[in-house]
Amino acid sequence: MTEQKKKPKNPALARRQRQGWVRIGVQIVFFLTAPSVYASAFSGLKAIFTAFGEGEPLAWSAFTTHLVLLVAFTILFGRYFCGWACAFGAVGDWIYRFSQWAQKKTKIKLPKLPEKAVLVLQWMKYVTLAAVLALCFLGYGGAVSQNSPWTVFSMLISGNFRLAAYGAAIVFLVTILMGMALQERYFCQFFCPLGAVFSLLPVLPFFNLKRDAASCPARCGACQKNCPVSLQLDRDSLRQGECIRCGRCSGICPRNNISTAFGLLKGDELWPDLLRGGVLLALMLLL
Ligand code: SF4
Ligand code: SF4
Repeated sequence: MTEQKKKPKNPALARRQRQGWVRIGVQIVFFLTAPSVYASAFSGLKAIFTAFGEGEPLAWSAFTTHLVLLVAFTILFGRYFCGWACAFGAVGDWIYRFSQWAQKKTKIKLPKLPEKAVLVLQWMKYVTLAAVLALCFLGYGGAVSQNSPWTVFSMLISGNFRLAAYGAAIVFLVTILMGMALQERYFCQFFCPLGAVFSLLPVLPFFNLKRDAASCPARCGACQKNCPVSLQLDRDSLRQGECIRCGRCSGICPRNNISTAFGLLKGDELWPDLLRGGVLLALMLLL
């Protein structure tokens, strides 16, 4: 009997799979240890604009501390929080993954938005942010919280099911969860006001992802095709803030052309990603 030779594993594929599993693991850790950081930071933002509107000095709180920390972390490392640590973003990823798996199993393909529509809808989050800040400034911060899908989500994950007064927020949340099954990072890309804040922040160049497009094979484009927010790192300079640091592009590149300034790692950003996760987790636990 001839011994069947084992096919050598494609190193880029192995790296991508490893990175995907590690990211899920990190998301679970953050989901279990710091599930409401996004909501706290958002409350900090609302508190600042409410204080402005009332002409009162800002009362410093855990909410504002969370906001300032996440803003500083994002300026340093990019939107790592969105890609790896936000509980709502993680739930969106898991719903989308489950939906992809179910579509494959049932052979029922759900419709996807064309890329042009995605690019236009990405501007909607700035409209949401402006509306939320204006309402807080005008003294309607309470109404924003009452109707926010995040309020209901936070209540559910903390085991509080007294939701009778949150009808509109429940409808919003269910609509968003359905959208998450259709479009990857549906809420993050199109509606998240906190994501809008993060995407407007500058990022220190040392930690920015860069693509060495000159060494790319002709007509490859694997990085953009696999990017959850349809970003071309070397071209979309105005949309760089959309990058949620998921790392999928650097993981999939067959030539290791995408990396941060740690170019020495040749596209294997796993260790810097874990380091960022460790720093963020330490900060969250300290708080
Ligand atoms: S965009 Fe918003 S919901 Fe999405 S991961 Fe970032 S903070 Fe969370
Ligand atoms: S695939 Fe790359 S460019 Fe797209 S969001 Fe993820 S890290 Fe950013």
